[in-house]
Amino acid sequence: MSDIPLLPHVEAFLRRQHALFIDGGYVQSHSGQTLEATNPATGQVIAEVADADPADIDAAVASARRGFKHWSQVAPATRGTVLFKLADLMEQHREELAQIETCQSGKIIQISRAFEVDQAAHFLRYYAGWASKITGQTITPSLPSFAGERYTAFTLREPVGVVVGIVPWNFSTMIAIWKLASALVTGCSIIIKPSEFTPLTILRIAELAMEAGLPPGALNVLTGTGLVGKGLVEHPGTNKVSFTGSVPTGIAVGQSAMGAGLTRATLELGGKNSAGFLPDVDLDKAVSGIIEAGFLHSGQICAAAERFFVHRSQIEAVMDKLAQRLSALNIGSPLDERTEFGPVANRQHQLKLGAFFDRARAQNNRIVHGGRLIDRPGCYVEPTIILANGVDDTLLNEETFGPIATFLPYDTEEELLALMNNTPYGLSASLWTNDLGKALRMVPAIEAGTVWVNMHTLLDPAVPFGGSKSSGVGREFGAAFIEDYTELKSVMIRY
Ligand code: NDP
Repeated sequence: MSDIPLLPHVEAFLRRQHALFIDGGYVQSHSGQTLEATNPATGQVIAEVADADPADIDAAVASARRGFKHWSQVAPATRGTVLFKLADLMEQHREELAQIETCQSGKIIQISRAFEVDQAAHFLRYYAGWASKITGQTITPSLPSFAGERYTAFTLREPVGVVVGIVPWNFSTMIAIWKLASALVTGCSIIIKPSEFTPLTILRIAELAMEAGLPPGALNVLTGTGLVGKGLVEHPGTNKVSFTGSVPTGIAVGQSAMGAGLTRATLELGGKNSAGFLPDVDLDKAVSGIIEAGFLHSGQICAAAERFFVHRSQIEAVMDKLAQRLSALNIGSPLDERTEFGPVANRQHQLKLGAFFDRARAQNNRIVHGGRLIDRPGCYVEPTIILANGVDDTLLNEETFGPIATFLPYDTEEELLALMNNTPYGLSASLWTNDLGKALRMVPAIEAGTVWVNMHTLLDPAVPFGGSKSSGVGREFGAAFIEDYTELKSVMIRY
């Protein structure tokens, strides 16, 4: 087992004194305060970034307002061209970006390459294609005509203004790309606030965006703690917030946004997603499905499933086979290409997962596999299978955001649907069966923004994504994002 060597410019990038990215270049923070970025695979500090203060927030917003004024007047096709160029540059710098991402997040290098670069570029191109296809409508009003006058009306889709994009640590690049692509393609400018745990890759992407031809101010990056996000949301110069993160922070952000003069808010929040397996599914396929649904990127995916409902006649066999598969996983350094299961993203998260294991034990849940922190440097936890005693157990209700699959048996399809819906959240769910007719009849009864059949977790830019119930407000992807990033203006004409 050995790590791939870091590229020389990755090492040089990490050694830099990272500043804030404002107005097309790096600017030192007013306070000079910094935050450390730590590699969760080793526990070592790998870089220092600026911690923005209120004066930096003012500077970034002023830059973004100037950027908006200019960028919103750029021809739509040119906006698309710049985003296509950025996608090309990301691919040209694939290994560099993937290595930076793996060092800051502990994501295994194969996932950094495939999702944080390849998929992010794929999403970026999807959005770029919309640039020249955003249209309004023409309407004929039915107003009275007394002297032969006539009327016509049309709608304009206008960019909403300066967007604040607040990004979590789990997919720091891909989620930032969703936000900046939606904003820039519609003619908005954007200020990205990455998580304090993963501030680095987006800074390099901002440099590439300038190389792609984005004008200064159209994209700014402010690193710092949650206070920076709060300051941006509450700033009178920002017009919209696009937030992805946890439910409690999302609710606070939504309240701040409303309080700041009805700033528009899109909230993509967490959940407690369900996967339901009907008894006709082959056991090996069910186990592969559970690994796809619950263990990709150590379960640190908002759409991942954490609640697994399997027919009583099969649940022991499924958990046995799953335990065998998890035992065989290659757990190791995320920079080793053979590693299948790496660390979780930070110490705080590792300790939170440890507390969930303690809670499961305290509630007499059966730990079928795993259930411990791994005693080695870095933030590792064991991939874990838990059998709950009943619907009220903590592990069936609170989002762990980790590699913990909690199971409960069911007897009838009605019971399965009731269990799947027994949560205040509704981001995603999956149903696994060979009977497509039955699946199509059950799908409308499942309360979730996305329902997968015989698959889980995978997202496509053409398919809208977002939460129902307490998992969010608004949709990303498809054509749905256009409504969130534009204002509809109606124009009526008498002639
Ligand atoms: P958090 O909610 O803790 O943080 C998300 C972002 O918000 C971070 O950049 C954070 O900064 C910032 N932030 C913190 N406090 C505030 C505030 N008061 N005002 C504005 N911004 C603030 O989430 P995590 O980073 O821990 O990410 C994990 C969560 O994200 C999970 O619950 C997961 O389900 C959810 N998620 C949802 C997705 C979806 O599409 N629905 C996708 C991915 C994740 P800092 O980190 O510096 O504190």
